[in-house]
Amino acid sequence: MKLQDLQAAEKKLLLQTYERNPILFVSGNGVHLRDEEGNDYLDLLSGIGVSALGYAHPVIEQAIAAQSKQLLHTSNLFFHEHTVELALRLTEISGMERVFLCNSGTEAWEAALKIARAHSERVRENGGKLGTKFLALEHSFHGRTMGSVATTHKEKYRTPFNPVMPGVEFVRFNDVEDLRAHFSDDVCGICIEAIQGEGGIHPVTQEFFAAARELCDSTGALLIADEIQCGFGRTGKWFGYQHFEIVPDVVTIAKPLAGGLPIGAMLCTERVAAAITPGMHGTTFGGGPLVCAVAIAVIDEMKRTNLLEHVTEVGGYFMDELRGLATEHGCITEVRGAGLMVGMELDSTELAKTVAAEMLDQRIILNRTSENVLRFLPPYILERQHVDTTVAALDAILTSNASYAGQAASGDHAHG
Ligand SMILES: *Cc1c(COP(=O)(O)O)cnc(C)c1O
Repeated sequence: MKLQDLQAAEKKLLLQTYERNPILFVSGNGVHLRDEEGNDYLDLLSGIGVSALGYAHPVIEQAIAAQSKQLLHTSNLFFHEHTVELALRLTEISGMERVFLCNSGTEAWEAALKIARAHSERVRENGGKLGTKFLALEHSFHGRTMGSVATTHKEKYRTPFNPVMPGVEFVRFNDVEDLRAHFSDDVCGICIEAIQGEGGIHPVTQEFFAAARELCDSTGALLIADEIQCGFGRTGKWFGYQHFEIVPDVVTIAKPLAGGLPIGAMLCTERVAAAITPGMHGTTFGGGPLVCAVAIAVIDEMKRTNLLEHVTEVGGYFMDELRGLATEHGCITEVRGAGLMVGMELDSTELAKTVAAEMLDQRIILNRTSENVLRFLPPYILERQHVDTTVAALDAILTSNASYAGQAASGDHAHG
């Protein structure tokens, strides 16, 4: 089917949840995607932070091929050999002690919310005092299921589905006083992204994260780190919280974990895990042999090639280059992030739209989040040469739009 036919058919057949770009991809290789006419695109988004090893990576291909000949699914009624191998790796890199495997980010987040409620219930049963409230942050994003939207700040994602899970209060971002004001022993968990992704690539401050840890310690509430976007190597460390040297009680990961296959995981400490007994929670597909085999292959390949160091090195170069660009273009108000999780904020939403569209015309994929922030979540295998291509394209586009704006302004003056 041609692109136009697909567009027309999807318009009739699919729930209209997405505004897709009119591009039809048929294959990918390394950091490039290829459309049906054979054009290559430099991908700086990796399917929203998913394809960490890029496309057609031989290690992933091999893991899928081998496992597909053995076993795809067993259900969680039986054992298969990869669950423990993956759990060993995840606990080792995270400092957590127990693992629950599932199929997506929002499902990992639901597991985190449920375990926090189960944990507080258990505390109360043992004569302690801990409530059921969650504190989440302004501009947070935790997914699309009912508990996840309840903890997601943006009203558009939440209010059409009211009533969502009750008992959530939002705290002003990085505002320690506001956090303290909302906190009490009514709170069972504080929800934090070390670097907010959908919210516009905003890192929490050391002071805020430390205050959240300290408050949780004072009552036994759980510090819940959503690492679905900023975790698993994206920022140059395995987890975003590791930049802060803070250990959460619960961690969620998903997006890049199986290099492009759907997977999620909730990791927690032994103390928290004790709240869950057989039958309380589960999933049919979660932790199946195929995704586990691939996730193991991804982790081992990341270790073998020292990919975290590479992410730090190329990500640092990328941010330096963007900051250099900011000295020449006053419309760039800030460059934020860590590793290969980078946001470049512009002074206008219209300009951000134009730049994203013109970059796509030049076959460079990025996206715009939080209105005026250009977001870069490239594959971890990005090289400096790709950064150079990107920065040159941005420079040219910003220059041409600046002179256009300047002409329009002088034109206005002439008519005035
Ligand atoms: C993407 C994302 C989610 C939701 O993950 P899905 O796999 O889309 O359900 C949750 N939290 C954060 C921080 C995310 O970036």
